[in-house]
Amino acid sequence: MQRISHWVNNKVVAGTSGNTGKVYNPATGEVQAEVDLASVAEVDAVVAVAKEAFTTWRATNLSRRAEIMFRMRELVDANRKELANIVSLEHGKVPSDAMGEIARGLENIEFACGIPAMLKGGYSEQASGGVDVYSIRQPLGVVAGITPFNFPAMVPMWMFANAIMCGNTFVLKPSEKDPSAAMFVADLLRQAGLPDGVFNVLHGDKVSVDRLLEHKDVQSISFVGSTPIAKYVYETGTKNGKRVQALGGAKNHMLVLPDADLDMAADAAVSAAYGSAGERCMAVSVVLAVDTVADALVEKLKSRIPNIKVGPGTDPSAEMGPLISREHRDKVASFVTNANAEGAKVVVDGTDKAKDAGFFLNPSLIDNVKPGMKCYDEEIFGPVLTVMRVKSYQEGLDTINANQFGNGTAIFTRDGGVARQFQFDVQVGMVGINVPIPVPVSYYSFGGWKASLFGDQHMYGPEGINFFTRGKVVTSRWPDPRTSSVNLGFPQNR
Ligand code: NAD
Repeated sequence: MQRISHWVNNKVVAGTSGNTGKVYNPATGEVQAEVDLASVAEVDAVVAVAKEAFTTWRATNLSRRAEIMFRMRELVDANRKELANIVSLEHGKVPSDAMGEIARGLENIEFACGIPAMLKGGYSEQASGGVDVYSIRQPLGVVAGITPFNFPAMVPMWMFANAIMCGNTFVLKPSEKDPSAAMFVADLLRQAGLPDGVFNVLHGDKVSVDRLLEHKDVQSISFVGSTPIAKYVYETGTKNGKRVQALGGAKNHMLVLPDADLDMAADAAVSAAYGSAGERCMAVSVVLAVDTVADALVEKLKSRIPNIKVGPGTDPSAEMGPLISREHRDKVASFVTNANAEGAKVVVDGTDKAKDAGFFLNPSLIDNVKPGMKCYDEEIFGPVLTVMRVKSYQEGLDTINANQFGNGTAIFTRDGGVARQFQFDVQVGMVGINVPIPVPVSYYSFGGWKASLFGDQHMYGPEGINFFTRGKVVTSRWPDPRTSSVNLGFPQNR
């Protein structure tokens, strides 16, 4: 059985805790590897390595850091296919989808290559007589990233590229469900010339997360995962004096107005709901159909579903792979199975596929969904699209704003004025106008509102740089013996 161990000081280090987790092939349901799960002592040892490496790394000049990140860019680019296959084998998403994840992750590495231009501070000459004032941004020290199963390559790239370029050293705790992508990326960083100890991978479960949250030498925590754990990580990390950004779950609504191109809206909803088997935090989960178009829209959605090819990543014609685990597949199926009893209408039932040995489901479509039903109130995170019928734009907007989550949303319309009003009013962090999955490009920042994000700073882009640095302001005067005298008054500028 393949064993996946930690990555410390630029090499693989076998775990010593005796605890391991199972890594499945979701397409067959078989265990394909075991992953070491770190103990408290192993966490402490990795943090000590990262702390030691920080002293040298923060003093390494910016152009040297950028040179390494440029090389990393080339290495990821050259190894896209291999990394995509690694992701596909453990996560289940088809390789073409995994290639998309790597392309979006690579954007973050490219952004990080230019960080020297963004680390410039301000300078005020002659703030007072002979006094100059300037600001600088400095790294935090050892920073940690805790990541989810659904983007095992991209989400770590959201974090480590900026963190390292800003001069921090990094400890990544990837999802124990698909840990191999992190190891592959770690080896690419080594090949790029990153010094020992600057980037480390520690596999683990709650034990290692809790230790990172309380460790005095860990300065910040970047977390992406489900809302209950995000809230826990935020509360525990901040209680221990750490800077925390914790991104949580989602329930993304797509509002379709009567003037929208319905075929375009149906194509977009189907792509965004069922891509990656719905295991995306930016997946469209609820279509809000303004009622004159609802019947036609549901028909169009339904007609597209039989054309979706479900299968393993090894089948080049497959468009949608399995879910991550048996338990998760069964939970997703239960939302569909219970929907009729809750008063909704199951238009397409994809749960027959749940009998397969792999963790597959076919796409499902549920109409007449309302708040108060489980399939509306909870994050499903699977290939289930729901439709809620609303009477007007206003009812659609009010529904979105009343939802506990605020990650992504989209409006489909030809009316620019209404789209602008929507962008102005909607209480959601990332908004698409005729764009169903509005993941910001890497020079903006990613983050939701409400229960989709705990903390003040969004991830990557300019907010990522703020998160991974802290400001310092220097007030300086070079002594001029001609002006020196004793003066007990409070320093004034006028
Ligand atoms: P998860 O919350 O179960 O796990 C995320 C990380 O937390 C993993 O590394 C895991 O090992 C760790 N963890 C799990 N349980 C823990 C516990 N009790 N104590 C401490 N640590 C714990 O999430 P997941 O199932 O891996 O990922 C899916 C979730 O992530 C979905 O809710 C999805 O919406 C969300 N997500 C959000 C975003 C975003 O940007 N907002 C992006 C991707 C995924």
